[in-house]
Amino acid sequence: MCKEKWVLCPVCGNKTRIKVRPDTMLENFPLFCPKCRQETLISVKERNGEE
Ligand SMILES: [Zn+2]
Repeated sequence: MCKEKWVLCPVCGNKTRIKVRPDTMLENFPLFCPKCRQETLISVKERNGEE
């Protein structure tokens, strides 16, 4: 069971080093992007339709 997937940076679309599971819920999580070299607040909720 490996349904984890990488979180993409909302700014540049680059893969970050953060993984989420289908049941992961993040609220205002400071996602660090190694490409942008900055943190962006993201929210991840289950049943997120967009890919
Ligand atoms: Zn980025």
